Amino acid sequence: MNDETLLLLANRAWAAQLKDERPDFFERQAAEQKPNFLWIGCSDSRVAPDQITNSPPGVMSIHRNVANLVYEEDENLMAVLQVALEKTKVRHIILCGHLGCGGVEHGLKQDAEGALGHWVRCVGDLADRHADELRSLPDAERLDRLVELNVREQLERLSRTAAVQAAFRRGQPLTLHGWIYDLRDGTLNPLAEISGAPEPTVLSAEAVPA
Ligand SMILES: [Zn+2]
Repeated sequence: MNDETLLLLANRAWAAQLKDERPDFFERQAAEQKPNFLWIGCSDSRVAPDQITNSPPGVMSIHRNVANLVYEEDENLMAVLQVALEKTKVRHIILCGHLGCGGVEHGLKQDAEGALGHWVRCVGDLADRHADELRSLPDAERLDRLVELNVREQLERLSRTAAVQAAFRRGQPLTLHGWIYDLRDGTLNPLAEISGAPEPTVLSAEAVPA
């Protein structure tokens, strides 16, 4: 049997089982989508967002690219963001990196050519900015530290996109989460968070405790 035939057979079994458990599931799915989450993650085959969070269809919109990068000139991601923030109005965006990321490793080593090398250029820039710290680490820890730095960096870049800034200005409930997935034990670990902060309060002199 062909590899892809196995996928189709598995799909039929999945749909039949779900229909059996929740007879109105597909009818409701066909009517509308109301996801609560947008997931921006790496395209690595091992980091399957809905499976690792046990989420059925309809819970999260998903955008994946090599090394979970945010470029404001990336029309693909910007279109996904626009739908998520203006149409479906997700309340959470999860930007998820993972330990042992091959895309981040190419950025660290700056050894990829062609489209891949061009794509991970911002990871190379990030590695250059943290060169002293990265050089001081044992080889085994260097990549995973850059994976963390990359999640923080991409979360910042995400927060500065026009779409996210507009959602914050509208006062739309929205939190950006930076998470790391550990391939070794299957756990997701929160690293950073950004919310649409209200205008900073100016404290009067009397309000400041002595
Ligand atoms: Zn990856």
